[in-house]
Amino acid sequence: MKLCSFVVPCYNEEEAIPFYYEEMQKYITKLEGLEFEFVFIDDGSKDKTLEVIQGLRKKDDRVHYVSFSRNFGKEAGLYAGLQKAKGDYVVTMDVDLQDPPFMLEEMYSYIKSGEYDCVATRRVSRKGEPPIRSFFARKFYKIINKMSDADIVDGARDYRFMSRKMVDAILSMKEYNRFSKGIFGWVGFKTKWLEFENVERVAGETKWSFFKLFLYAIDGIVAFSTVPLVFAAVTGLAFCIVAFIMVVVIVARALMFGDRVAGWPSLACIIVFTSGIQMLGIGTIGIYLDKTYMETKDRPIYITRLEE
Ligand code: UDP
Ligand code: MG
Repeated sequence: MKLCSFVVPCYNEEEAIPFYYEEMQKYITKLEGLEFEFVFIDDGSKDKTLEVIQGLRKKDDRVHYVSFSRNFGKEAGLYAGLQKAKGDYVVTMDVDLQDPPFMLEEMYSYIKSGEYDCVATRRVSRKGEPPIRSFFARKFYKIINKMSDADIVDGARDYRFMSRKMVDAILSMKEYNRFSKGIFGWVGFKTKWLEFENVERVAGETKWSFFKLFLYAIDGIVAFSTVPLVFAAVTGLAFCIVAFIMVVVIVARALMFGDRVAGWPSLACIIVFTSGIQMLGIGTIGIYLDKTYMETKDRPIYITRLEE
C-alpha cells in the first residue's frame, strides 16, 4: 500500500481543525489503495491549536505534528511539513476547508495514472473577497509572470497532490525566503490544473491583511526575479545614449547658431551624462549582485523527471 501524507499548516486554528479532521475522514475512504498520515504544523499558535492537534494524535496515531517555537509563517510551515511527511504522495492543504477535500478523488485519479507528477488547483472566482484585494492580486500575477521564469498561475492555491519526486525536488530548494507559489512552478514537472469556485473558510478568520499580502507580493518578486536589479543598468545605458545624442545635437547647434545661453548646453550634457554613468555603475553592481544572489540560493542546477 502506498502512503499519502496530508501536510496542513495551522496558525490559531483551534476552531477549524476538528471540522477539517472530520470532513477529511469522509473523503479519504474514497481514495482506494492508500494509507494516510496527517502532518499538522502548529505555526506558533497562541490559542489551543496545539492541544487540539495533540487530542487528535491521542485517538489517531496517523496524526503527526510539528510545533514551532514561534510564528514562522505558512511557508516555513509547508517546508517543515514536507520534510516530516513520509508519504509516496503528499497533499498540501489549508485547514480552513477552503481547499475542498471533495477534489481529492479526482486529483488522485490523475496522479495514479502516472501521467502527472502533480495535480494543482486554482480558484476561478474570488467570491467573498474585497474587490480591491482581487484587483491587486490580478495585477500581481501579471507583473510577476513578466518578470520571472517561475510560472506562477493566477488564483493558484497551495492545494496540491504531489508525487514523492516532486516533493524531493521542492525540498532540494533550501532557500530561506520561500515563496511556495514560485517554487512549485520553478521545479517544473507535469502538472494537471483543476479549477474550482472560491469557498469561504469554515471557521476562524483569515491571517492575511492587505498589507501582509502586499509584502508577500514583494517577497515573491524579489525571490523569483532579479529584473529590478538589472533595471538600473538598462536605465543607465539609456541615459548615456541620450547624453551622447544631446552632446551631438547641442554642440552642432552651438557651432551653427552660437551658444545663446552661455554654459547651458555643456552643463545639460554633463548632468545627463554623469547621471547615466552613475546609473550604469549601480546597474553593473546590480548585475553582479543578481548573480551572487542566485548563487547563494544554492538552487539545484537541474531537476530530473525520468532517467534510465
Ligand atoms: N497559516 C500558517 N501560518 C501563518 C498564517 C497562516 O500556518 O502565519 C495557515 C493557516 O492556518 C491556514 C493557511 O495557512 O491553514 C492559510 O491561511 P488563511 O486561511 O489565513 O489564508 P487565506 O486562505 O485567507 O489566503
Ligand atoms: Mg484560508
